[in-house]
Amino acid sequence: MKRFACGDVVPGCEDVFLGATEDEVLDKALQHAADAHGMTEVSEETMDHARGLVTTVA
Ligand SMILES: [Zn+2]
Repeated sequence: MKRFACGDVVPGCEDVFLGATEDEVLDKALQHAADAHGMTEVSEETMDHARGLVTTVA
């Protein structure tokens, strides 16, 4: 299972996302970023950064 913590990108945010694949987790994170942080446009650079922060959990 994959895990991504929004707080790694947005300091202070405590939302954490879990999914079967990296894409699934990043999809949820993107949706959250738009809804909760107003980040409707995420650069390729930010996505690369976020991708590097996805961890694998049991
Ligand atoms: Zn967040």
